[in-house]
Amino acid sequence: MSRRYKLCIRHSLYRHSLYRIWRIPKGHDSIWQSQIESSHPAMRDASGQNLPEDTFFQDASLIAKKKGEKHMNTFLKERNRLLAQKVIKGFASRNMEAFYAETKEEALDKALELIPKGAKVSWGGGFSFEEIGLKEALLSGDYKFVNREAAKTPEEKRAAELAAYDADYFIASSNAVTEDGILVNIDGNSNRVSAIAYGPRHVLMVIGMNKVAGDLDAAIARARNIAAPANAQRFGIDTPCKKTGACANCKSIDTICCEFLVTRFSRHAGRFKIILVNDFLGF
Ligand code: SF4
Repeated sequence: MSRRYKLCIRHSLYRHSLYRIWRIPKGHDSIWQSQIESSHPAMRDASGQNLPEDTFFQDASLIAKKKGEKHMNTFLKERNRLLAQKVIKGFASRNMEAFYAETKEEALDKALELIPKGAKVSWGGGFSFEEIGLKEALLSGDYKFVNREAAKTPEEKRAAELAAYDADYFIASSNAVTEDGILVNIDGNSNRVSAIAYGPRHVLMVIGMNKVAGDLDAAIARARNIAAPANAQRFGIDTPCKKTGACANCKSIDTICCEFLVTRFSRHAGRFKIILVNDFLGF
């Protein structure tokens, strides 16, 4: 065993023990990381010179930053680009039409291309369509709206929620999606999941690749342990997850986990139009 390799292992063990005993603060970790990396044989070329920073073991987020990518690092973007093709095929097998957008701007263009001018549009909350600028574009465009957010009384709100079933386009995201195209949504009031299931002529979904989970169990776990607790923060409700960040399977009156909708197939071809975006959208 070479001296350099022994040194590398020694540093690794030392670092591991520090983690276990003191849990090194993140910033300090880079000191040990750089020592390990510079001692690794693969970090040097044949003449023993250090390889350029971008060549090996580099900080991917730093590279992403250099390239102007704010949310995901380069490697994750490439992984998502490839995975999206599988998800889109999965949607197609379920009679749902899906499109890939590399950026939020591309997603916005696609959404506006899909929604005809003059269409009656509604939505069920959610951040993703706001994050790509779709809400703003629709509100300033030539469309008819069923907007429950504009309701001033509980009666007006209920009337808007019922009117949304007759919309041409209902816009939503999804709390999670499986790699083979199953949509998972959780709802408290349940106007959103019910409109996804039935009513509006089209459901347009804007989904960030951060919502993709391996299988149905993973998608439900994501919806319950990430999306729901984050929504609990957003709505300021009195649930265990609001206080701890983790799902406690509560039955509190404020729970937003009343209904679970698993969309595995669409009977109506073209009703679902899904834009998968290679970015981090919503939660
Ligand atoms: S079941 Fe209750 S604790 Fe769990 S995510 Fe839903 S609201 Fe939060």
